[in-house]
Amino acid sequence: MGCQDVLSRKTGVIVGDDVLALFTYAREHKFAIPAINVTSSSTVVASLEAARDKKSPIILQMSQGGAAYFAGKGVPNSDQSASVAGSVAGAHYIRSIAPTYGVPVILHTDHCAKKLLPWLDGMMDADEAYFKIHGEPLFSSHMIDLSEESVEWNIETTAKYLARGAPMKQWLEMEIGITGGEEDGVNNEGVDNASLYTQPEDILAIYNKLAPISPYFSIAAGFGNVHGVYKPGNVQLHPELLGKHQAYCKKELKSKDDKPLFFVFHGGSGSTKAEYFEAISHGVVKVNMDTDMQFAYCSGIRDYMVGKKDYLTTAIGNPDGEDKPNKKYFDPRVWVREGEKTMTTRVKEALDDFNCSGHV
Ligand SMILES: [Zn+2]
Repeated sequence: MGCQDVLSRKTGVIVGDDVLALFTYAREHKFAIPAINVTSSSTVVASLEAARDKKSPIILQMSQGGAAYFAGKGVPNSDQSASVAGSVAGAHYIRSIAPTYGVPVILHTDHCAKKLLPWLDGMMDADEAYFKIHGEPLFSSHMIDLSEESVEWNIETTAKYLARGAPMKQWLEMEIGITGGEEDGVNNEGVDNASLYTQPEDILAIYNKLAPISPYFSIAAGFGNVHGVYKPGNVQLHPELLGKHQAYCKKELKSKDDKPLFFVFHGGSGSTKAEYFEAISHGVVKVNMDTDMQFAYCSGIRDYMVGKKDYLTTAIGNPDGEDKPNKKYFDPRVWVREGEKTMTTRVKEALDDFNCSGHV
């Protein structure tokens, strides 16, 4: 008995009702699926390997910057064309390779602020083209982040994108309230504390606007979370607020469901396991993991480079002999692999932390 029992497609990239079924299953069984930011085939396979070994579903997501990196940093991106091309290329790669790992994968894209909307538009053009041929969108889901704008415009515009994706049964994650910190150029470090906490009335307004359009949406609500890594104690996390949102919406909507909403946890780096578990118990089904993964990936390569320094300075000649070849040390499949190993270990830890392991 596992999450695959509720899925029509058991492995590889899942879409539509399978995404809804998987998130519903996660909410019922009190686990969250880590969303790992991927920027290359290397970080994709490092993540998939962890999910396979831990018998777990996983979410792979590309940010606007990560997508541009997929296209190549040498490609101009002022009109978001590199981000569009890179995310589409990454999506095709992930779709091709994911079934090899035998677990369900949600293919997602990360924060899209107002100024980046041409990126989202370009990806949804690709979704619609893919839908015409295959009857499903290219991406399982996207994220739109208009939390910097007025609440009204945020909800109104999010609703338009949800409506565009609805015929394809595409999931949309939205953000309300301000998540502190800095990520991909959005800087909220100077914001005062009170506005870091989303109000229940806003959550209800989102539900009332979005639910009649489609059931395929989730909310990243601010409860004191921050993007990036900060010293603990600077911002107070209040995951219990998510429970209050669920209770408020249940009452106002006269819902039979104790948890009518799907929540997403952003800016979780540095949070305690207890804070994660409390958030998950209140309907968090997805937790974003970026900063910790970058550090993990770097650490394996760093240790290798430092440890093997004397084998990497020249192509031939090392402490074992001046005519000894170093090819087996500088081959990227050797040292990049070290980063993959440490990243896989860190993804596995996240899968355990969020109670996601063993559900496949
Ligand atoms: Zn966010």
